[in-house]
Amino acid sequence: MPPETLDVLVIGAGISGLSAAWHLQTHCPDRRFAVLEARPTLGGTWSLFRYPGFRSDSDMYTLGFHFKPWRGREAIVRGPAILDYLREAAREHGLERHIRYGIRVHSAHWNSQAARWEVQAVRQTPGGGEEPITLHCGFLFACGGYFRYDQGYQPAFEGMASYRGTHVHAQQWPEGLAVRGRRVVVIGSGATAATLVPALAAEGAEVVLLQRTPSYYFVVPARDRIALVLRRLLPERWAYALTRAKNVALGAFLFRRSRSQPEKVRRFLLGQVAKALPAGQALDPHFSPPYGPWQQRLCLVPDADLFKAIADGRAEVVTDHVECFTEHGLQLQSGRTLQADVIVSATGLELQMLGGAQLSVDGVPLAPGGLVAYKGVMYAGVPNLAATFGYLAASWTLKADLTSRYVCRVLNHLRDTGTRVATPGAPPADMPLRPFADFTSGYFQRAMHQLPRQGSEGPWKLFDRYADDRRRLLQEPVDDGVLAFGAGPAPAAEPVPLARAA
Ligand SMILES: Cc1cc2nc3c(=O)[nH]c(=O)nc-3n(C[C@H](O)[C@H](O)[C@H](O)COP(=O)(O)OP(=O)(O)OC[C@H]3O[C@@H](n4cnc5c(N)ncnc54)[C@H](O)[C@@H]3O)c2cc1C
Repeated sequence: MPPETLDVLVIGAGISGLSAAWHLQTHCPDRRFAVLEARPTLGGTWSLFRYPGFRSDSDMYTLGFHFKPWRGREAIVRGPAILDYLREAAREHGLERHIRYGIRVHSAHWNSQAARWEVQAVRQTPGGGEEPITLHCGFLFACGGYFRYDQGYQPAFEGMASYRGTHVHAQQWPEGLAVRGRRVVVIGSGATAATLVPALAAEGAEVVLLQRTPSYYFVVPARDRIALVLRRLLPERWAYALTRAKNVALGAFLFRRSRSQPEKVRRFLLGQVAKALPAGQALDPHFSPPYGPWQQRLCLVPDADLFKAIADGRAEVVTDHVECFTEHGLQLQSGRTLQADVIVSATGLELQMLGGAQLSVDGVPLAPGGLVAYKGVMYAGVPNLAATFGYLAASWTLKADLTSRYVCRVLNHLRDTGTRVATPGAPPADMPLRPFADFTSGYFQRAMHQLPRQGSEGPWKLFDRYADDRRRLLQEPVDDGVLAFGAGPAPAAEPVPLARAA
């Protein structure tokens, strides 16, 4: 039997894949598409992580889809509530019928002769085995997120094997790990550590946050009072749209100010922290980062929960470096030792682009690090390929929705002009190329060489502001003189029948 052929294949059923499915079924109803998901469930990030307190670091009015209002009372919520929201969105909008679970894409090869992607995947069989499958599609839409699922980043510390307590990585939290009455050391800074610490303290653990470098914290109320008032006064959709616009604007304002007036923003953020800390506790050395605000992700602290745990004496912050693991805990470079029943590595993610799939064009392999982004959606010289990569300093979903909508515009342009292949042109040879993101977080720095690059101007430059991308991706003409459209080969006389692969 010939491989099944679809118009569009989407890789991944997380926020990006669900957004892609909604937009494709809404704006390209004549296109046959499927979403291939490696896992047996949807939700991606929000169904994977299980560590105590796992929650969003952005408000649900912008992390939510524009097509499904957030109805919860709180704006900052835990992972299970986000997963429920995503499942509900998929159910209400009929998105699940497009998802084929248990199919992991390994590679995709563009065949110019046939003007199609030939996608190799592995499907899990009901008996627990695996079988290879091949699918063909005209357009490939990678929505596989940005990090590896099978493991997080674990630095190799000396003596790890000698430690007799329980050592876990936040990304692989064991079910039923009891922490009440136990001394837990969380290694790491950033959002995961800031989330884990108050949650472990609330479960009755005695917690130490061991960080090499302090983070910036932004203390916010878990409830958005303005959103709740708007909800009482206005129809649901208006209230949601207004709150979303307000939060996009506030987030963009803070980010811009962080770049244009870092000292002012630093004073504001540190001032907030000083107020939240117990009286007399200095900002140095634990709460005074050596870098500017928003050079790494800002950690939200809803209702000051982290600082309450510190004030209550249930959590302590230590700024130091791990020298080595010992039998009973950690030896620090300062000479201090930390006893620990449980050590948690909140040391970050292993970045991975394009769902880890190997791509090639006419037999020439494509390394993500060799690609140059076009409009932050496609790649110079690569036909009919788009990928979603959300904002780092705003909710991922904002960019995912714009990306999906833009892909639909490209697909509809192809249909309307009787063409089949859209290939972004390359930037001029003398245009300097820059890293994909201007972020100093460890996980970005470690993986920068694997990330695509961006140009310094034109459609090859990435925007970090929703308003700019909205204009570029929704309003500017698709045919901009850089995205080239080609007829491709004549379509086959007999369309390949659509048979569901799963
Ligand atoms: C701890 C943590 C907290 C975060 N907090 C926030 C936050 O507060 N706000 C925010 O905006 N963002 C946050 N993020 C970023 C988060 O990843 C995004 O919000 C968003 O969920 C990404 O959605 P996605 O669909 O692009 O990717 P993912 O959620 O990673 O989903 C990708 C899906 O694709 C599947 N997949 C991957 N590769 C393949 C393949 N080869 N074949 C088939 N299927 C594949 C995966 O199984 C997965 O289901 C956080 C991330 C982490 C790790």
